Amino acid sequence: MLMQTEPTLTELEDAAAFQRRHIGPSEAEQAQMLRVLGQPDLEALMREVIPADIRRARPFELPAAVGEEAALAELRHIATQNRVMRSFIGQGYANAHMPGVIQRNVLENPAWYTAYTPYQPEISQGRLEALINFQTMVTDLTGLDVANASMLDEATAAAEAMTLALRGGKSASRSMFVADDVLPQTLEVIRTRARPLDLEVVVGPATQAAQVPHFAVLLQYPGVDGGVHDHRALIAAAKAQGAVVIVAADILALTLLASPGELGADIAVGNTQRFGLPLGFGGPHAAYMAVRDGLKRQMPGRLVGVSVDSHGQPAYRLALQTREQHIRREKATSNICTAQVLPAVLASMYAVYHGPQGLRRIAQRVHAYTVILANALQAQGWCLQHAAFFDTLTVLTGAHTAAVHATAEQAGINLRHAGSDRVGVALDETVTREDLLKVLGAFAQARGASRPDASLFAAHAKGVAPRYPLALARTSNYLTHPVFSRHHSETEMLRYLRRLADKDIALDRAMIPLGSCTMKLNATSEMIPITWLEFGSIHPFAPAEQTRGYARLAADLEQWLSQATGYAAVSLQPNAGSQGEYAGLLAIHAWHESRGETQRDICLIPSSAHGTNPASAQMAGMQVVVVACDAQGSVDLDDLRAKAQQHAARLSACMITYPSTHGVFEPRVREICDIVHQHGGQVYVDGANMNAMVGLASPPEFGADVSHLNLHKTFCIPHGGGGPGVGPVAVRAHLAPFLPGHASSGDAGKAVGAVSSAALGNASVLPITWMYIRMMGAAGLTAASAVSILSANYMARRLAPHFPVLYTGDSGFVAHECILDLRGLKDASGISNEDVAKRLMDYGFHAPTMSFPVPGTLMIEPTESESLAEVDRFVEAMIAIRSEIALVEQGALPREDNPLKAAPFTAAATFGADWPHAYSREQAAFPVRALRSHKYWVPVGRIDNVWGDRNLQCACIPVSAYADATEAEVS
Ligand SMILES: *Cc1c(COP(=O)(O)O)cnc(C)c1O
Repeated sequence: MLMQTEPTLTELEDAAAFQRRHIGPSEAEQAQMLRVLGQPDLEALMREVIPADIRRARPFELPAAVGEEAALAELRHIATQNRVMRSFIGQGYANAHMPGVIQRNVLENPAWYTAYTPYQPEISQGRLEALINFQTMVTDLTGLDVANASMLDEATAAAEAMTLALRGGKSASRSMFVADDVLPQTLEVIRTRARPLDLEVVVGPATQAAQVPHFAVLLQYPGVDGGVHDHRALIAAAKAQGAVVIVAADILALTLLASPGELGADIAVGNTQRFGLPLGFGGPHAAYMAVRDGLKRQMPGRLVGVSVDSHGQPAYRLALQTREQHIRREKATSNICTAQVLPAVLASMYAVYHGPQGLRRIAQRVHAYTVILANALQAQGWCLQHAAFFDTLTVLTGAHTAAVHATAEQAGINLRHAGSDRVGVALDETVTREDLLKVLGAFAQARGASRPDASLFAAHAKGVAPRYPLALARTSNYLTHPVFSRHHSETEMLRYLRRLADKDIALDRAMIPLGSCTMKLNATSEMIPITWLEFGSIHPFAPAEQTRGYARLAADLEQWLSQATGYAAVSLQPNAGSQGEYAGLLAIHAWHESRGETQRDICLIPSSAHGTNPASAQMAGMQVVVVACDAQGSVDLDDLRAKAQQHAARLSACMITYPSTHGVFEPRVREICDIVHQHGGQVYVDGANMNAMVGLASPPEFGADVSHLNLHKTFCIPHGGGGPGVGPVAVRAHLAPFLPGHASSGDAGKAVGAVSSAALGNASVLPITWMYIRMMGAAGLTAASAVSILSANYMARRLAPHFPVLYTGDSGFVAHECILDLRGLKDASGISNEDVAKRLMDYGFHAPTMSFPVPGTLMIEPTESESLAEVDRFVEAMIAIRSEIALVEQGALPREDNPLKAAPFTAAATFGADWPHAYSREQAAFPVRALRSHKYWVPVGRIDNVWGDRNLQCACIPVSAYADATEAEVS
């Protein structure tokens, strides 16, 4: 029908166009979904779902939404306020070239960046292979036995190594020795982490490491000032006194220098940023940790291992306790959940593409340039702090120090402020001859010496003698697995990346209905700015006048996130939700301390909490007391009251999740907050479920003091297969002075120190959230929350006749996710929630969250971004699976031989010579018609987790294993 009236100009300009791209169901579809729920409109549904006294009272204000192009133009303007200089600052960060084939086919490819953490390994073999390549790369280069994938940054990796040493070592000492040439940001984070655990941190010259016994010793290799020292004797002496020795090592240097393992270290940590990732103002980058065999079962973070599938073929999956997100709760020692998977994949691919010789050549070139620089500087009359180095020089500049920095800056170069009388220069793979001449020119000009010219290089044409100690020259092999030698042509690399991506299910194939994880749209326009040079090429310790773009980006986001949540202040420093929790609890503790209440150390946590909550409390030096939940899954108020009373003198905090992890807006949350406050405690609301609340409810309004947000859930940063994330911590005004500080932003003296290597954490993915909020505006964000609740309720309503929905609010509605209870079916048919999860793969879907927060259940969160068609497709798959279960219940299919128990089906198994099953091949692989024209095949059958844990192997599979397995199957 033609329109009767002409649209207004504002309608034609349509500034809200992006909202309709982001929100999956159209208005007509929303109306249809509302009809199924018997609700006249969205507002009526919101009144049913959200208790009246929880509804947000104060409206929030954001700049009016703009379209994709306008938002990009605005952000471009902000980006240009960053001044891109050549940064040779070093201090743990180096410029690097990301190969184009990797940038386009991994970093910019939704098949990689929209994937979820590989908890469902059968549909994650591609990224698991990339991660095992990462682990192999790290173990090879560090010379240790087992490496994980991955750590959040070098500083937190070192802090995690500290606590690993404490529990894995034998020393009775409570002091850790940190060499004074460790990266300053690492020391800063170690101090933050040591304080609540009452650990002493002793800093001194490395040579003093073994003067008295310590439980751990941390050495930097090479040191921050560039010195390369042979620490073998020192390490042996420290170990003889019972210390666990941790070496923080430069991953590129290890291609030329003896590995930490060969030097005798127990643990190696470091960053893999220089394997192709941009500086990005400090992150995201994948840090690493590798350990001796004896420490592997205590290692934090996620560990990929090899196991076998149901056909006896090798297959990858997360090993040991790292498989589920329920980090060992009260017994936890680390809270890492979201890590740095996408950066780890990128770094591993850099190693795959360059191979061992390629990496060695890069390192040799960097070193050769450094030697040339050193010689030329000495020829100019400068003295160097260290005679032995890899890529970093500290030049003793004395009275010329300020002049050197000034002339370098005029040449567009940042050097390291290494002290009042010295200047640091760190080279990297991007350095050219022109760069070297510029650096030398700056030094020459500062003392009035003559500028060198290109003839400098002629003298070195025949080669450059290394200037690291010969005794430390690396003689052992690395990256000998064929995967590091087969993909050096761009064609091979392109196809390898495609082959791996094809094995996985990410959001580019189907919805990923993972409760609590909010797998929503990661719009292309949100992703585009992250590869802009103005964001990528900024060193985290560049002078503030060069980083105004980042300052503006952060200021906007802090303000917008404050508005969106109702909190007074926000810190963007934590680089995952878990780190936000930790920072929030430190803020609470520091606030108590400021009031003279240092004894408050009890943290109440309901039994339904996410595993990171008790783990973070543990790390913050708190004692966890578990509060029961009632039959409705809500916090048991009587139990809460009793425990708050019992521990009143020592009550520090209570951590709850809202809406609850059971997906319900608990009506009595105000009462919970009041009880905690009455007993002197502070309320931490885990904000992972903020997607149900933005614009609809505000935690501080109903009584919360502090929350973290997961920008990689609610605010559109893609999950990346398990990171990067950003976990801002948001607080009410009284806690604002206790947000984390960072020496690099001039607030080293704050009560709570740094929790990340860089002041802005994973800074270079912040543009994603900026774009999202800018394009949605307040109305769009509120609509997103409402539609996420609509979709979850629509799904619950449609599935309820087939599967019991476990918890609903008083009105019979759920929040933004719903839990299907499969425990009854298990009793009746033997079919478990895991069988259903695996069977969904045959229908082309990623399973919902399994067994969290309730064992034996599936938790579904559709998010606002899925269209009605996709939601219906998922519902119909679940209904079809329910009828398969019915056949088992009725005895029409055997309990042990049915498509659910055998799921998922590979193509090879489906079309193999023999078919011993009680059902057809067609029933196995094409249970619904649509699959005939669009079928995803799992690359492996169901994976045996237990076998893999008993036969722990965490590096690339020897090629022979495939042949053996094939033979085993044939025979
Ligand atoms: C995801 C999640 C966390 C942890 O966040 P990470 O970013 O993975 O560290 C904490 N609590 C809840 C409820 C979550 O869903």
